[in-house]
Amino acid sequence: MSSRLAIEGGEPAVTGVVDRPARFDDSEAAALRDVLRSERLFRYLEDGEGQVRAFERRFADLMGSPHCLAVSSGTAALICALVGLGVGPGDEVILPGYTYISSAAAILNVRAVPVIAEVDASLTLDPDDVERRITPFTRAIMPVHMRGVPCRMDRLMAIARKHELSVIEDTAQACGGSFGGRRLGAIGDAGCFSLQHYKIITTGEGGALVTANEKLLARATMYHDAGRPFWVGGADLEAIPGVNYRMSELAGALGRVQIEKLDSILDRQRRVKRQFLEAAASWPGVSLQDVPDAAGDCALVLILFLPTSERASQFAAALKAEGCACGAMYSGEFPDRHIFTYWDHILEKKGYSSRDNPWTHPYYQGDVEYSADMYPRTLDFLGRAVAIPLQGHWSAEDVTQRIEAIGKVSTAFAE
Ligand SMILES: *Cc1c(COP(=O)(O)O)cnc(C)c1O
Repeated sequence: MSSRLAIEGGEPAVTGVVDRPARFDDSEAAALRDVLRSERLFRYLEDGEGQVRAFERRFADLMGSPHCLAVSSGTAALICALVGLGVGPGDEVILPGYTYISSAAAILNVRAVPVIAEVDASLTLDPDDVERRITPFTRAIMPVHMRGVPCRMDRLMAIARKHELSVIEDTAQACGGSFGGRRLGAIGDAGCFSLQHYKIITTGEGGALVTANEKLLARATMYHDAGRPFWVGGADLEAIPGVNYRMSELAGALGRVQIEKLDSILDRQRRVKRQFLEAAASWPGVSLQDVPDAAGDCALVLILFLPTSERASQFAAALKAEGCACGAMYSGEFPDRHIFTYWDHILEKKGYSSRDNPWTHPYYQGDVEYSADMYPRTLDFLGRAVAIPLQGHWSAEDVTQRIEAIGKVSTAFAE
């Protein structure tokens, strides 16, 4: 292999392009066809257990949680969890500055105030910073297992218990991952999953909430179904107005097939990532993302840190030229809504209207401030990070070539 970088006219280390294999096969097609033939697309009919209910039972079982409520999206799951816990005006919820904007949007949807905290070298919530940001108004912490990497759930749970806060795990990107042998989502008071197209398993659009808290479940179930018309049970609970976040039987049927593929998808991802990690010791000048529980990592991505953000951008460009898909995580190239600096309307404290605004709500007594320079560590870590998405279907040769590409670029950069 030539050591001359492809970006400088050398031979690229990676030859050929790998096609993505199909995500769906005849089993999904058959499941969908069966639902159509059954003429039943609505979950709440009285003729026996439907697809959505069967999906919920299986999902709860697989995640090791007593209950699951299937909903129409990950955002819906987060909102249902917040409503289930009674989080609302006057309350603060702590979340990381690196997460999809819908984590923050869910908090604002219940008129609570998002409090942004720093991430650490795991690119997930920094427990020390969370503790510093707790105020008398804090009601909940929302750890986000970004890109399949588990948060430091031991420390976050201890902080939550000490301060009597609820924990809502945003598990949208980490379905099937674990921390300390427990599945993500089943550790906090509620775990919220997305089944949207880009996630590990998908129903196109969809979501799921798991919880052991029966009152939370009952309130979430009521809320997700317009307050209760089709939902029986919870008669001892006060009715609340709801929305419609119901999952259709088509999505439920798709989910039932997809969930059975989850562990084999994760096995393949982990086998690939292990090979990269074994090679990493020979890459000079780069350090690795600090993964809190490597065994529970969904292994979707390999994240490297360079000494400076400028080096990270150059490294990503050189690695891309070698044929290894990757990206600098915070380079200003596009407004990435996973990074708080691009949550303009939130940083500007804009609500739904001048009267309907969580920050100026009469019940809100706090005084949270936001500014881009309030989170130097988050921006430093993201700025120096290069993400290499991993594909479980890569052949041994595909993996070897990419490992060589990283070795080649890191060696050239270290010289
Ligand atoms: C995708 C995602 C969501 C929202 O899920 P939707 O199904 O798109 O509503 C929430 N949080 C994170 C971290 C996500 O990646």
